Parts: sequence; C-alpha cells; structure tokens
Amino acid sequence: MTKRKPIVAGNWKMFMGPEAGVELSNRLVHTYKSIAPLDVVICPPFVSMTEVGRVIEGTGICLGSQNIFWESNEGAYTGEVSAQMLSGWCDYVIVGHSERRHNFNETDAIVNKKVQAGLHYGINVIICVGESFAENSAGNTKDVVERQVRAAYRGVGHQEALQTVVAYEPIWAIGTGQASTPTVANKVCAEYVRGTLDNMYGHEVSSSVRIQYGGSINSKNILDFIEQSDIDGALIGGASLSAEDFSDILNSVGRHYLSD
Ligand code: PEP
Repeated sequence: MTKRKPIVAGNWKMFMGPEAGVELSNRLVHTYKSIAPLDVVICPPFVSMTEVGRVIEGTGICLGSQNIFWESNEGAYTGEVSAQMLSGWCDYVIVGHSERRHNFNETDAIVNKKVQAGLHYGINVIICVGESFAENSAGNTKDVVERQVRAAYRGVGHQEALQTVVAYEPIWAIGTGQASTPTVANKVCAEYVRGTLDNMYGHEVSSSVRIQYGGSINSKNILDFIEQSDIDGALIGGASLSAEDFSDILNSVGRHYLSD
C-alpha cells in the first residue's frame, strides 16, 4: 500500500485578524514541535496572511488561502484575489468549502475554474466535497460526492492532479460537534473519492492523492479517523483556533504516522 504523507490544515475562517493571527501563529510555532513527516497548513483570512506568513516562515508550517478567484492574474474584479497574487508566498488554497458553495453560490463549475486557476500558478489545491444532511438522509452521499469530485477535476491533467488534496467534509458534521463515524467516512474517502479518481486518472494518481476528513475533529477523535486506510489527514475549523488543541491533533497524527 502507498504510504501517503499526512496533511493537516487549519481553516481559521473569518476569525483572527492580523493581531490575533500573529498571536495564534506564534503560540502554534512555540507549542508544536514536529515529530514526524507531516504537512501542516494554516489558512488565515486574507488580511492576516502577510503577518502570519512572517511568523511561520522557516518553521515548516505552510501558509494557505481560504479562497481564490478564477481569473488567474489581474483585472477589474473588485474584492477578489487572484492565483497569480497568491503564488509564490502561499502554498495551498482551499476551494469548494461548503460555506462558500452555500453562502456564496459557488457551483461545481466555479469550483472547477478555481481549481484550475490555483494549479496553473503552482498552488496546491485542497478541494472540499461533501453532502448535506438532507442528501445524506436521502441516501445520496455517493452521487453527490462523486459528482463534486468529477466536476472539480474536469480538465485537470495527471501531473496537476498530483498537486491536489481532497477534503471530504459532510456538511452536517462541520462545526456541529457531531463528527461522522470513522468507518463511514473512510468508505466515502476510499470508494467515492479515491474510486472516482481511479476511474478518471488510474491507480498512480488515485493512490497518491491525499484525502482529508473534515467535520468536528478534535484532539480526542482525530486518531479514530487517521487510523482509517484512506484518510490521510484532516481539515480543521474550530479546533485550529487553539494552538494547544491544534498541536495535540498534529502530534497524534505524527505519532500515528511513526507507529504505522
Ligand atoms: C471546516 O470548517 O472545514 C471544519 C471542518 O470545521 P470544524 O472543524 O469546526 O467542524
């Protein structure tokens, strides 16, 4: 079986302006001591990225953006930030988060344009997919997740696909304290996400792309998820706003990787 390097990302959402962001990232840098090969990403709001980027420079912690615009360089797009502007100092971008799909009407087609824009400028893209409570209750998880994966990767080549990470985030589990069941989440990641990538790209790509679980992860439940065969890390909202909680999660993932 391919051993994939775990990846844990913290999505700060619309929290942590520049001052608070510097304080949190400083605490994280002092609290988290890497014990294993593990990709760690923090995604502050745009206004805090420069300052936070300075704090984490040279620490091995990567900077990510929570959003990107699909026009990849410059133009008259008030309020937007392009892939070109983010390239060079931003390693990752989150695309297709359910809060953007639902609050800002981001369709599968828009998600695809953003994925392509990020990849074009060499930014690693974390692609979020996941079903709503109603879709889950109606037994439509497979259809929804497979459709979202297929749409996000439309027109993306094999090499570029290797620069992506998929975050499976059931919407009903985000910020609710009600995480999915690890074995159920693993089935979605293995069959609906990795299986679809396998159909689209074949084994080399599908076995290399890392898949995160996201939705009410904390330091107590992370191990149950990371132990699963097809879950390679986590996308974390609430618990990433505490340096101590986030470090505990990172250390659990690191220890698991070493013992595996
Ligand atoms: C998220 O926002 O992607 C998320 C998973 O949030 P939380 O960890 O708070 O559920």
